[in-house]
Amino acid sequence: MHTVHRTRSPGVPGVRPHSGSMVQDRLPPRLARVPSPAMTTSVAPWQNWAGNVLASPSGRSLPTTVAEVSDVVTRAAERGTRVKCVGAGHSFTPAAATDGVLVSLDDLAGVESIVPTRGADGRVDGADVTVWAGTRLHRLGPLLWELGLAQPNLGDFAEQSLAGAVSTGTHGTGCAAPGLPATVVGLQLVTADGAVLTCSRESDPEVFEAARLGIGALGIITKMTVRCVPAFALRAEERPWTLTAALADLEGFARSADHAEFFWFPHTDAINVKRNTRLPGDAELHPVGRIRGLIGDELLSNEVFDVVCRAATRRPALTPRLNRVASRALSARDFTDRSYRVFASPRRVRFREMEYAVPVAAAAGVLRDLRDTIDRSGIVTPFPVEVRFAAADDVWMSTAYGREVCYIAVHQYHLMDHTELFRLAEGIFLAAGGRPHWGKMHTRTAEDLSAMVDRFDDFVSVRDRLDPERVFGNDYTERVLP
Ligand SMILES: Cc1cc2nc3c(=O)[nH]c(=O)nc-3n(C[C@H](O)[C@H](O)[C@H](O)COP(=O)(O)OP(=O)(O)OC[C@H]3O[C@@H](n4cnc5c(N)ncnc54)[C@H](O)[C@@H]3O)c2cc1C
Repeated sequence: MHTVHRTRSPGVPGVRPHSGSMVQDRLPPRLARVPSPAMTTSVAPWQNWAGNVLASPSGRSLPTTVAEVSDVVTRAAERGTRVKCVGAGHSFTPAAATDGVLVSLDDLAGVESIVPTRGADGRVDGADVTVWAGTRLHRLGPLLWELGLAQPNLGDFAEQSLAGAVSTGTHGTGCAAPGLPATVVGLQLVTADGAVLTCSRESDPEVFEAARLGIGALGIITKMTVRCVPAFALRAEERPWTLTAALADLEGFARSADHAEFFWFPHTDAINVKRNTRLPGDAELHPVGRIRGLIGDELLSNEVFDVVCRAATRRPALTPRLNRVASRALSARDFTDRSYRVFASPRRVRFREMEYAVPVAAAAGVLRDLRDTIDRSGIVTPFPVEVRFAAADDVWMSTAYGREVCYIAVHQYHLMDHTELFRLAEGIFLAAGGRPHWGKMHTRTAEDLSAMVDRFDDFVSVRDRLDPERVFGNDYTERVLP
């Protein structure tokens, strides 16, 4: 085993620490170090990135070692105080909220070790990389690239922590690309009694299966081993198209590239298609030019888009026209870059989101229904609906357990009311056999979920065993778990 380094942020070697107010704006306030949950005076309130979840923790903790994590949990449990680990606070659900001790692993970040993996022919085909759980995904990408490696797939955004993203089932797009939990092959977990468990398929397999997508309910994950592939580039093609054309053969579209997705602008037939094709890591890179990138990702997707959303908030009737203009503004572009740079983009316009995974065969019908329902209801939204795909996986509690899925996400600008849009959309998703993303808004309860989520009962029995006193419980787990 080759030990690389153990780092504390800020200052992961080779990675620039955050700078600039725009990035800071997206992160939760820096957590004050609290040596013990006993220190509960003047603890700052907490809110998630979207601003729809507020909490008043009784204490905060920023451990720098696994022993400190264990100590915080043990002391809290002794006092009957609940504990919750927060990643980057980017879930739209109250998954990370707590009235107890809020633990951040921002100081447990970086790559710990690398073990090369070999294919059936005996050749090295990647590596199992053990990463400290608090590592932010946008820091991990460059670190892995320097090691000649990459995460096989990512979401469209990379501010999340590794453990937070995995714990809610974060996914990207691609019919052959499962979500992030499926790439985890081992993890270390601090449980409610302060014990430090190491688990994998071979060792403590039930805990491993449950903790891969544990919504913070089983304990605090301190490190994760991720199966990485050799570094690769992506050739991105972005094109304007129509929803009508995409729905005529949605499965064909899903398979038209390694990673295919589109954004549909409600109240119009316009979509913006993104198709990413995998290339070897030494492929010639043609990144988006600085100016083009600034116009496309920064200006149109963030600054100007925020102005558009504010206009829609003031004059909702203008929204269909604004969406037509916005969809035309995003012109065709092609570029090739390192995989992690192509997968993720900055998102500074705040929004609320609901996302369900529906069977791929049902997805075109769901989207038609969604379009007709939005048109009939008179509800407006300036935010595009995002349509992505994922391979089936075998991760307990996963939205893609045992079936290839299409993810359909509805968004609403944070200053506009999302309630009716999400209520209508959720009804359509549920009728199609959809399953909700654990980190995005939904109204399902434990009773509903036990009937629709595979391995739910197995998960619950592991949780009952590991955390009978619900030390890691919060309002969200009380709603979604028995
Ligand atoms: C702008 C934006 C873009 C997004 N894009 C995508 C996307 O492309 N695809 C997608 O699937 N999702 C996406 N999401 C959702 C997001 O990936 C998930 O909600 C993810 O959980 C957020 O990670 P986090 O680090 O902020 O976790 P948090 O929201 O802080 O926590 C999420 C859960 O993980 C638990 N947790 C965190 N750390 C630990 C730990 N060390 N041990 C145990 N439990 C822990 C928390 O207790 C909580 O239950 C997006 C969200 C936003 C705001």
